Amino acid sequence: PHDVLWQPASNSRVLAILSNPAYAGAYVYGRSTFEATRRKPGRLRSGQVRRPLEKWPVCLQNIYPAYITWEQYLAHRARLHDNQNRYEAGRHGVPRKGQALLQGVVLCGRCGARMGLHYSGPQGEYPVYGCNAGQHQYGSPRCQEVRALGLDAEVERLLLAALEPDKIALALSALAELEKETAMLDRQWHLRLERAKYEAERARRQYMTVEPENRMVARSLERQWEEKLRGVEEVEHAYQRWSTQQQLVITPADRQEILALGENLAQVWRAPTTTNADRKTMLRLVIRDVIVDNKREHGRVWFRINWQTGATSEHWLTRRVQSYAEHPQLEHLRRRVRELNAAQKMDEEIAMILNEEGVRPSRGLAFSGGLVWMVRQQWQIPTVKENGKEANPLRWKDGTYSVEGVASAVGVILGTVYKWVRERRVDAEQLAKGMPWKIKLTDEQIASLREYVKRVRRIKRSKKEAS
Ligand SMILES: [Zn+2]
Repeated sequence: PHDVLWQPASNSRVLAILSNPAYAGAYVYGRSTFEATRRKPGRLRSGQVRRPLEKWPVCLQNIYPAYITWEQYLAHRARLHDNQNRYEAGRHGVPRKGQALLQGVVLCGRCGARMGLHYSGPQGEYPVYGCNAGQHQYGSPRCQEVRALGLDAEVERLLLAALEPDKIALALSALAELEKETAMLDRQWHLRLERAKYEAERARRQYMTVEPENRMVARSLERQWEEKLRGVEEVEHAYQRWSTQQQLVITPADRQEILALGENLAQVWRAPTTTNADRKTMLRLVIRDVIVDNKREHGRVWFRINWQTGATSEHWLTRRVQSYAEHPQLEHLRRRVRELNAAQKMDEEIAMILNEEGVRPSRGLAFSGGLVWMVRQQWQIPTVKENGKEANPLRWKDGTYSVEGVASAVGVILGTVYKWVRERRVDAEQLAKGMPWKIKLTDEQIASLREYVKRVRRIKRSKKEAS
């Protein structure tokens, strides 16, 4: 009398069906058993272990109508086992050789699943951490994806910063404090032990002094002595237990070695002989896992590092987004570029100012003049010319000529002047790409240019007549 309830098949449900021999028509009992040594107190179903197929106590074939044959069932079983091995091998402890540093230690901050790694880009050169939890289970869209290179670089930076020599020295000095404390506690233990031994010794002496005929007294003193001896034993045991827990002893030699390692760490990390697998191993010694969430804020990735020490730290990573339409500081960037451009700053200068202000480009680390020029083109911010949108005057305020000015002074077309500029026949200066040329010319230079033009024309004419 159960209602049938249809639900999407989940991984675990499908697995359960595949591994259930009833679908192959077999009645089976005792697929798993309880192992007393694995039991946890208070947990009823703890300590359950699977038995291998050969050890199933009851396995009767052809009992139910079978969906698949027994051979098919065995084949499925072998295949699942194989898959599991392969999955496990790639998953835990074995850092693979790929370039993504955090592979295997990234957890999804949205659903808690371990994030996988895949490669995107035309040549598959961009590693991406992706959470496929929902997708594998129910075919729902991917939970989230985070580009690996940026995140890796940031975690690497934090890791190396955390292991800088002065940080290690600090940790070591904290450790030294701990050692001092341990030494003090050790002394306390010794005092306790001495006291217990002293009391036992006193009880012994009291017992020895009593006359054997005085049996009642002797017996009670004997009991006391015994008690004191037990007391000594207890303290000794407790001391032993305590001291095995305090095994962290760092010798001065260790200390030197650790400090030296810290100094070399960055070098070792970047050495060409250090493989990606080495780096991953090193990383896992220091970092347990990294939890990532890129949907908390637009254009930024939040992540938390769970360090092996038990400490955690939270960080934000500004995504290097593809297009400037997605730039996290889009409005700010556009406003600054407009303002600086309006203040007649050159693209190079604008780039420098933006870099100083800590505004980052979508790609790369810093703005360049060319990049600012490109951004201005995208947003159609024209260069603000000295003369606004007016036609260039023949001569600028500082006395230099414009291209038009040279053309009219010498009596040539604009193209010729541009050619001279290119050939550096004239002393021309342009404040920035797209800005008008300023050409320094003396009257003598103008005269000689005129002579030059006449000469060239005469030569051309004579060539024409000759032909
Ligand atoms: Zn997820």
